[in-house]
Amino acid sequence: MIFELRQKKNKFLEETYKKSMKELNGFYGINWVKNTPKVFILNSRDDINAVKNEKTEDWVVGWADYGNNIYVLDYTKMKTESSHKDGYSKDQYTALIKHELSHLFLRILTNGSYIPTWLDEGLAIYTSGQNNFKIEPEKFNQFLNFYSKHIEKDKTVYYESGFFVLMLVKRFGKQKLIKFLKSLKGVNNKKEFDNLFSSTYKFKLNYLEVNNIYTK
Ligand SMILES: [Zn+2]
Repeated sequence: MIFELRQKKNKFLEETYKKSMKELNGFYGINWVKNTPKVFILNSRDDINAVKNEKTEDWVVGWADYGNNIYVLDYTKMKTESSHKDGYSKDQYTALIKHELSHLFLRILTNGSYIPTWLDEGLAIYTSGQNNFKIEPEKFNQFLNFYSKHIEKDKTVYYESGFFVLMLVKRFGKQKLIKFLKSLKGVNNKKEFDNLFSSTYKFKLNYLEVNNIYTK
């Protein structure tokens, strides 16, 4: 497959990028200033499928790869090339870019260790401010379905996981979370992850114990 590349000059995108990198460096405690991520803007569903090498769902409008690149659908193509028929506001689009960049920061911090999908997405949602566009759940009852996949029937990992990360930060602090993420090096599976989580946070990853803290 052959693609034609061109640099894009766009003040809104450049400022969004700069601000996101600064804030994510601050959150993750990293100083990523050299070989910073590249952002690729795609113009159609067709291009998304070709670059991603799969037939994507129509809600997929961005992703991060394993080579420090992120890919997002063009701001003006949301209505026609995705299921987001109302389009994205500038704030939503800013959050989308920050979400994808956040995935790259987490990969650097945890260096290839096992990360449950709910934590990967939860951190990207929380750090990008996407919780602001979602309804806060009264209780958690589904994010733990997502350890190694994104979708189960009609439920998605994006509903609750950002609010669970918010709870961890609010109740236990950001430093503890960053320390926990760094301590994941060498963790290879769900069992090891869950054990490390409960010894760090002193509660188990089940809805009873999670909601106990959430509703307290
Ligand atoms: Zn994501």
